[in-house]
Amino acid sequence: MAATIIDGKAAAKEIKQQLAAEAAELREAGRPVRLVAVQVGHDDASEYYTKMQARQAKAIGIDYQLVELPAEISQDEVVGQVLKLDADSSVSGLILQMPLPRHINAAAVQLAISPEKDVEGMHPENLGRILTGGGLVAPCTPMAAMELLRRACPELSGKEAVVVGRSTIVGKPIALMLQYMENSATVTVCHSRTKDLASHTRRAEVLIAATGLSQGRWTRYQQQRAAGKDAERPDLSPLISADMVAEAAVVIDVATNYIPAGFDESGEPLKADRGEVALKSVGDVDFEGAMQRASAITPVPGGVGPVTVAMLLKNTIACAKAGR
Ligand code: NDP
Repeated sequence: MAATIIDGKAAAKEIKQQLAAEAAELREAGRPVRLVAVQVGHDDASEYYTKMQARQAKAIGIDYQLVELPAEISQDEVVGQVLKLDADSSVSGLILQMPLPRHINAAAVQLAISPEKDVEGMHPENLGRILTGGGLVAPCTPMAAMELLRRACPELSGKEAVVVGRSTIVGKPIALMLQYMENSATVTVCHSRTKDLASHTRRAEVLIAATGLSQGRWTRYQQQRAAGKDAERPDLSPLISADMVAEAAVVIDVATNYIPAGFDESGEPLKADRGEVALKSVGDVDFEGAMQRASAITPVPGGVGPVTVAMLLKNTIACAKAGR
């Protein structure tokens, strides 16, 4: 039987309805609910994200402000601006938009955001709190993956969970959240040095994939070609093929890989209307194949992504409630 598709868009809609009610209560109580994004210089992808954040925040009653700083600003000046916003009691939460210009140290600027306004959950203090069951906020993508997992698989106790990917912002927090005492899975974490990945994924009752391997390969290939180097077109097939998925597994595919939609006979990527490479977004898991084996699976797009944005708004409301 085909797996149930875990609908991230529907989950995000439901979560945002709840958040809108909470935002309204805060406003009625005269409390500020304000999210500020700081962007240094211009970046097309970042512009897309800030527009989306603004639209979604406003839709649920969160004030949204984008502070745009010039690309040539110094590191100290950016830190100064962030510290000023952080000290402003009308600001509930702060986001530092990526990427930053090369001369700005992202980690140093991020530390200027206090843990109580860190709506992305990236402050070391907030990351550290995941070790003891979580604090005010946590990183948005792990929260989103866990939210969808709990909906598809409320009883995690004793389940074999395999997390593929161990980054600080995605894989590691998920692995820790899966071990929260009250509803705790047995967790295996796989990464690029893992021998025989399939032997781990095949016994996963819960499989969480978060590598972005295909995207990384495609990006490196393009960079090599742009530098005039000879490069063989990389294998862009999903890291986790259908035969690597256990029967009846619950699969949460966190990855978003933007890779060519196809290739022509000469091996060149197909082009879109305006001559740019036509891209599609896919996860780490062979979705069509895994549909025939898993009991439930998140699609890409439309799975973890929309819920990640909802979690950013959830963290904003949490910070607004705790506001100093
Ligand atoms: P990173 O590049 O920081 O980490 C990738 C991880 O994958 C690393 O731990 C790496 O191992 C592991 N890995 C790489 N190759 C393999 C392999 N062949 N086998 C097993 N593991 C491998 O990526 P992020 O954690 O930042 O992001 C992961 C994915 O999640 C990306 O696709 C990203 O786009 C997506 N993402 C999605 C979000 C959303 O809202 N849906 C938000 C954030 C990220 P090692 O540690 O050994 O290098």
